[in-house]
Amino acid sequence: MCREPSDWEKVVAFHGHSCPGLALGFRAAQAGMACLNELRDEDEEIFAVVENDACGVDAVMVLTGCTLGKGNLLFKDLGKQAYIFGSRKTGRAVRVVVKNPIWRQEPGYADLAARVMSGQASPEEKDEFARRRDERTRQLLEMPTEELLRITELDFPFPERARVFKSLQCAECGEWAMEPRMRLREGRTVCLSCAGEYTRGW
Ligand SMILES: [Zn+2]
Ligand SMILES: [Zn+2]
Repeated sequence: MCREPSDWEKVVAFHGHSCPGLALGFRAAQAGMACLNELRDEDEEIFAVVENDACGVDAVMVLTGCTLGKGNLLFKDLGKQAYIFGSRKTGRAVRVVVKNPIWRQEPGYADLAARVMSGQASPEEKDEFARRRDERTRQLLEMPTEELLRITELDFPFPERARVFKSLQCAECGEWAMEPRMRLREGRTVCLSCAGEYTRGW
């Protein structure tokens, strides 16, 4: 029998595995899009700001259609399970925050995860970890939205649409890079790789 894969199946196929982090991004994106009353993005009418670069971001990309390549997925390196979804059509935006990463508080789970990640776990521990991870994923997928997420309407300046810039050639390595990323070094235009870091820590 042939049937259309569910949204969750599409997300898992894209990400490569099913995990609690993916479930969080899935729930956040689903709730955010429902709030905005929007379907998947086609041409940058929607944008997403992700405040982490973990598994859940892949679910956001699949469900919202916002991608790094299109320039309507913006990454803020805050390490938070929080996401902003906005629609240029309606001018509305919402911020969706995961209230509580509950699985981290389960006794023994963090130790078990650490052992598995560091490659020190026994086959039994690996099975136990997979079982608990799947269980956790299912719980997160089924949990009532109000219990899992805090959603607030936002009033903020929308990010500028992605622009196209001209490319300049690096005087050092000869490679081409977009103009706003170039630096001057001893009067010559160079790329960031060739410019080197100079910071005094301020
Ligand atoms: Zn994952
Ligand atoms: Zn260069």
